[in-house]
Amino acid sequence: MKRLIVVSNRVTPSDEGNASAGGLAVAVLAALKQRGGLWFGWNGETCQGTDPNPEIVKAGSLTFATLPMPEPDFDLYYNGYANRSLWPLFHYRTDLAFFDHNFFEAYLRINGLFATKLLPFLQEDDLIWIHDYHLIPMGQHLRDAGMKQPIGFFLHTPFPAMEILLTLPNHKSLIKSLCAYDLVGFQSTSDLRAFHDYIIHEAGGEIFESGVVRAFGRTTLARVFAISIDTKTIAQQSIRAIRTKAVNRLSKSLNERVLVIGVDRLDYSKGLAQRFRGYERLLKHYPENLNQVVFLQIAPPSRTEVPEYVDIRHELETLAGNINGYFAEFDWIPVRYLNKGYTMQRLAGFYRIGRVGLVTPLRDGMNLVAKEFVAAQNPADPGVLVLSRFAGAAQELTEALIVNPFDVDDLSNAIQRAITMPLEERRKRWGAMMETLKKNDIFSWRDSFLSELEKAPATLEGA
Ligand code: UDP
Repeated sequence: MKRLIVVSNRVTPSDEGNASAGGLAVAVLAALKQRGGLWFGWNGETCQGTDPNPEIVKAGSLTFATLPMPEPDFDLYYNGYANRSLWPLFHYRTDLAFFDHNFFEAYLRINGLFATKLLPFLQEDDLIWIHDYHLIPMGQHLRDAGMKQPIGFFLHTPFPAMEILLTLPNHKSLIKSLCAYDLVGFQSTSDLRAFHDYIIHEAGGEIFESGVVRAFGRTTLARVFAISIDTKTIAQQSIRAIRTKAVNRLSKSLNERVLVIGVDRLDYSKGLAQRFRGYERLLKHYPENLNQVVFLQIAPPSRTEVPEYVDIRHELETLAGNINGYFAEFDWIPVRYLNKGYTMQRLAGFYRIGRVGLVTPLRDGMNLVAKEFVAAQNPADPGVLVLSRFAGAAQELTEALIVNPFDVDDLSNAIQRAITMPLEERRKRWGAMMETLKKNDIFSWRDSFLSELEKAPATLEGA
């Protein structure tokens, strides 16, 4: 079995037993443990000078190597190109995307630095797996340095439709570097379709039945690998969590009212403003819900240094304040809007007592909360998932109530349908989704990507 090298912007230096590690970290760590290997990335800090040395921590057959990022490139790369250019663009928000040629230069420099600092760790028969939009050109840098190992890339965000991507200056250079990988993984068929579209219509390339793509004088294999969750563990966590004080307190505070729950990083891609309006419309159009329903929205702030995130925060504060100001009674507050995060264990319990899970992003690569909500339900009395058609998860969780998150009426009608859905229908829908999630969990995602990556050089040779 080949040694595995994982590269991601952030590294989770915890062991498998650490229950606070996210699903991806658990899956990656298990694979690293099984094969032996290295997890390489940013240590979360900045440094003076342009030549930082990695800090190395060993744990059995695993090595963690993390690097501080040089100032001022960090700001241009991270808060600039990654989070003000690529993130909004990949989530179809051309209105919020900001382009600056200094951002792109810094992005290339940081990717080059990452590649240079990884080189001394690499062995000839390694398998290299690079993650996400922060590091698209890194594979190209490794190839330029003569690395011949299979190198795979997985994009956790959506891949935008061609017309959107064309608004990005330097799109050609970026996508050409994506084609330097042996294997490129996308979250959903619509992302793969968008990539194919670009390859054919913009790059003048070819697509073969095997999934092999030929463009820019390169061949790469492009496939869909829908990321998932540790379904079994979350189901178990939710059973344990309902016996905890916190979940009991939440339950008591509801006083028999129906809980509608949303859990999202505070991000404009998550459709929170539309969701708040959809809930407001529910209270207006279906007044039987007044004093009977509580909407709990957990929204830990993220990327607080990026101005667009400050704006969305203000907008949501105003909306939540308006809804509560208009509808609240002395003994009922319709919206509980929380700018803080909770551990997975706690969330699992909150999900379980939720009658409705609201997952309505305007655009999302996958959306793990949708899958977690389903996994955490009580089989005897499951809640209902209201899911945006623009989340990658909607391609698998087809038994959810699928909505258009831009349509406030559609949202309010779906919430009402979820609240009033008969038990039998809830069970049927939940059972089907849970079957899918048991089969397609985070471990099967990881294994299918790695086995495809191992075979990729042979697949490409045969193309
Ligand atoms: N999450 C968490 N605590 C919180 C809010 C979110 O642990 O207070 C986790 C959530 O359980 C999920 C992840 O953060 O596993 C968010 O992933 P998702 O794909 O839904 O969205 P992203 O934030 O990656 O865009």
